[in-house]
Amino acid sequence: MIPGEFEYYAPTSVQEAVSLLQQHGEDAKVLAGGHSLIPLLKLRLASPPVLVDIGRIQELKGIRRQNGAVTIGALATHADIEFSEDLRGVFPLMHDTATVIGDPMVRNLGTFGGALAHADPAGDWPAVALALNATMRLTGPNGERTVAADDFFVDLLTSAVEPGEVLTAVEIPVPQGKYGTSYQKFSHPASGYAVVGVAALVQMGADGACQDCRVAITGAGPKATRATATEDALKGQQLTEELIAQAAEQAGNGMDFLGDIFASESYRAHLVKVFTKRALLGAMQAAQ
Ligand SMILES: Cc1cc2nc3c(=O)[nH]c(=O)nc-3n(C[C@H](O)[C@H](O)[C@H](O)COP(=O)(O)OP(=O)(O)OC[C@H]3O[C@@H](n4cnc5c(N)ncnc54)[C@H](O)[C@@H]3O)c2cc1C
Repeated sequence: MIPGEFEYYAPTSVQEAVSLLQQHGEDAKVLAGGHSLIPLLKLRLASPPVLVDIGRIQELKGIRRQNGAVTIGALATHADIEFSEDLRGVFPLMHDTATVIGDPMVRNLGTFGGALAHADPAGDWPAVALALNATMRLTGPNGERTVAADDFFVDLLTSAVEPGEVLTAVEIPVPQGKYGTSYQKFSHPASGYAVVGVAALVQMGADGACQDCRVAITGAGPKATRATATEDALKGQQLTEELIAQAAEQAGNGMDFLGDIFASESYRAHLVKVFTKRALLGAMQAAQ
């Protein structure tokens, strides 16, 4: 299918991109890796009259570790993340997640920032961003602002990125002391997207108890969501397989489950518990 006509701009700085977005208002859409937007254009599910391609903006690229945090440029591709040794050293789940996204072509072109801004309910990175307590950096006509991952995923295909804004980078704090991470995904056999995906971070205190943990679910509902009842059941406790299994039973409590021809609401609700347990066990083992 052939997309409708659009004006195409390729700015080379964030400021230039923001002023183009401001100039064209609601007509304009950011284009990054194009692996979500281009299919929508081809199917004519979206027909923005103006595309602002941010792919040439160098300041949006790269992965840096400094001051106790990792900063990932919005244009870092899934493959950049997959092959970043720095990132693999601190957050093995980022490598593991990147390897289960689509196929090599999707991973070579699709971007971290694009996947987060798009807020696909079956996307993998939103769960990881929530579990790792990421902070999104945005630049718009009124300057820069930051949004915590907890406030970033608003609804189905809706993130906190406002018209006229560019997501520039994502900052992830590296936890102190002993911690482990894990991402476990039940992939759709045809598309590779997450039917259910669960990301977990477990942080151990000096006494060996779970000092903190964050668990986030994608694929199951309209947006990626934290499993706070599960987290609360584990904080301050000495973790055992049995305790984790009990806590995982509370994952998805109160969630508005999606259902489709491949996986019903009740099947997704079941998968959430199973994959929460697996992700927590993986994170606990990594922390130990
Ligand atoms: C065959 C196939 C399989 C896939 N499998 C998976 C999978 O298993 N898991 C998964 O998570 N994803 C999967 N994807 C999606 C893929 O990861 C996309 O690359 C990603 O969702 C969007 O990133 P992008 O850079 O391609 O964004 P684009 O398609 O360019 O943009 C997507 C949306 O985000 C906006 N946007 C992009 N970047 C920014 C920015 N920096 N600031 C503000 N707004 C921005 C755009 O305006 C647009 O609305 C798959 C895609 C395909 C085609």
